[in-house]
Amino acid sequence: MTDQAGAKKFLEFLPLGGADEVGRSCYLVGDGERYVMLDCGTSPKKDQIPNFEPLKGKKLLAVLITHSHRDHIGALPWLLEKNKNLKIFSTPLTKELSYIILKDAVRVRRRRGEPSPPLPPENVWETREYGEAFQIDDGISAVFRDAGHIPGSAQIVLNWDGATILYTGDICTFDTRMGGNFEKWEEADVVISESTYGAEFSRPDATTSIISAENSLIEEMKNVLQQKGRILIPVFATGRAQEIMYVIASAMREGKLPRVPCYSIGMMNHMLDVIGKDPAYREKVATIWECFTRIDFPRGVDANPEADERFRKIRDSKKPSIFVATPGTLQEGASSNLAIKIFDEKRSAIFIVGYQDEDWPGWHLWKMEEGGKFRIGESELTVKCRVKKFEIRGHAHPKHIIENIKRARPKLVLFVHGDPKARHQMHRYSRLEIKKCRFLSHLGETRVRFKVRTGKYDLSPLPGAPPTES
Ligand SMILES: [Zn+2]
Ligand SMILES: [Zn+2]
Repeated sequence: MTDQAGAKKFLEFLPLGGADEVGRSCYLVGDGERYVMLDCGTSPKKDQIPNFEPLKGKKLLAVLITHSHRDHIGALPWLLEKNKNLKIFSTPLTKELSYIILKDAVRVRRRRGEPSPPLPPENVWETREYGEAFQIDDGISAVFRDAGHIPGSAQIVLNWDGATILYTGDICTFDTRMGGNFEKWEEADVVISESTYGAEFSRPDATTSIISAENSLIEEMKNVLQQKGRILIPVFATGRAQEIMYVIASAMREGKLPRVPCYSIGMMNHMLDVIGKDPAYREKVATIWECFTRIDFPRGVDANPEADERFRKIRDSKKPSIFVATPGTLQEGASSNLAIKIFDEKRSAIFIVGYQDEDWPGWHLWKMEEGGKFRIGESELTVKCRVKKFEIRGHAHPKHIIENIKRARPKLVLFVHGDPKARHQMHRYSRLEIKKCRFLSHLGETRVRFKVRTGKYDLSPLPGAPPTES
């Protein structure tokens, strides 16, 4: 089965989720006998898990994890429930952050009365530093490369009998405040690339635009505080939360923002404890804590914030202040509880940063006309405060992805982790700029069998019925 270069003639790519969506990232790469899984996430919408049906009868060697976002790790409890001794590999920071996220998700599901498998046992989860190559099986090894997306995030370079397969996970190719050590791609035979912002080729260069977004956020925050208003920034626990907090803390340190009380409310506090232990982030995390007061809920972010006296006190105070609170969706928990109060304050503002899905309340709030009505649970509230979105992103600009494809000179590129328009645009622009390469971008229920040395492929339906909704 091997050619002269030692590479297996054919390899397979099976997307169990995430090929046609941002969510449920979970891909199998294999040679027909042995398989390795890349990420194992849930959908942010309904905790939906990947389609594990194609795993039946296959020898799964290990699961390799890129980073601790739920769309890349959320389904691990389900996978491990059926494959108890399966080895998991990630960077050390990703392992620690993932357990915080997974523990919280299990607790939330159980509180809602939904069934939840237990956490993956810690002893099957091994860690490797960036650049530390490790053996998975005979002729199969892997190495993590910094992805620059969030602390601990990695790209995976898989070596399969001499063939190199690069899986990007989520990448951020430009420097951000808390991250930004993206390792440029080296030569690879096949690339599996994210395409989150693939539809935005015309946007200005990412580094310039993130700096201007940060500056305008600080400027707007200053205006609100001068008018004695309050500011709520709903965030996800890892990534943008730390980024925004560091932007605010630095601005206060530099005198660009007045020193008002700042509160960090929710799960990102635990994340900061873990991230702050890493020498690369220690100083930055210390800067954040110089400025922010932490409010923790003993039973996780999803616990009833109403029950916390300190939380109620700061929520009901009318003094100018800044709240960075989870969850970023505004669905429930601290951010939603604060929003209910702030909606009614004309001088105050809710600033949205980062990704919002159309199904989330945060998206509707952002799209709303001034004075619109917002529904939370049973109540409908008039939004009197200001609402604005700032593009503070943690994903690569599509042009940077194309630059990296040129550098890696693969024979085949598979675009995943993007909405249909994003994947379509990535495909179109890449094909225009890069000639000796094949591209695929609509792979939802398709198995790809490809020849490593040429990129020639054939497609067949993926075994097993896909889950009903995505
Ligand atoms: Zn991510
Ligand atoms: Zn992702």
